[in-house]
Amino acid sequence: MIHGNPVDRPPRPEAVTGAMKKVYSSDNYFLVGHLRQLLENNHIKCIAKNEFLLGGAGELPPTECWPELWVAEDFQYDKARELVEGFLASADNGGSPWHCPACGEHSEAQFTACWSCGAERPLPID
Ligand SMILES: [Zn+2]
Repeated sequence: MIHGNPVDRPPRPEAVTGAMKKVYSSDNYFLVGHLRQLLENNHIKCIAKNEFLLGGAGELPPTECWPELWVAEDFQYDKARELVEGFLASADNGGSPWHCPACGEHSEAQFTACWSCGAERPLPID
């Protein structure tokens, strides 16, 4: 073995942050909080950064103070990404399917009024 000496390699940048990985960042504080809850509900340890810095950013570039969501354990990162992407995909088309309160018909998420009787979609209840 005359080639490759691992001792001479510079430290990998990942070593600085340990096993933690950033899974999501957004200027939407509520979304980051919601995703954190979603991950914790799935037994993924996560850490939110910059959660309370919005509004006090001063001279920082805006993206520097966005709330960030980090996964504490490296091995849970893929699962976390899956959950986040799944949630964002469903959020993109307006949430989940709903039932008309007036006539009971089923409507897909992207409709804001009942296709059958025209009643307005009820606000989501959280
Ligand atoms: Zn209806």
